Amino acid sequence: MSEAERQLAILLQALVKSDLDYICPRCYQLFSDIIACYRHCRETGEGDRADDIHKGLGLITKKDFPEFLRCYRVAIGFSIAECDLPLGGGRGRRSYDKCFEIDFVLENCGKFYSQMQARSLQTDMDTVPSRETMEAMLLAVIKI
Ligand SMILES: [Zn+2]
Repeated sequence: MSEAERQLAILLQALVKSDLDYICPRCYQLFSDIIACYRHCRETGEGDRADDIHKGLGLITKKDFPEFLRCYRVAIGFSIAECDLPLGGGRGRRSYDKCFEIDFVLENCGKFYSQMQARSLQTDMDTVPSRETMEAMLLAVIKI
């Protein structure tokens, strides 16, 4: 088990004990309900210091799905296949609730991290948020 995997395992254990089930994959803020999580994405995606990726994550209509997917991939740092996303149904919108569940997000961030480690010799540093990612996750947990 690598250091990163060990850290992730510890974080997951800590999170299971909290009542926070959702995480923003962009900034690792934690939420107890999905409505608050969506609201966070929409609010952070607007205004003077708007963040494009947050904005995309707040899109919940079917027609905006390609943009959601693009932003989700950037946020988790892993080009997840569309079929691997746990999407719910519903009229005129898709349910992304599971895409924001802590287990799911961390699992996929972990995959990305392992991939980068495997290729570490040819790593393009511009595309690697891995270390910052781990630190942000630790900070998120410390705030609980
Ligand atoms: Zn966020």
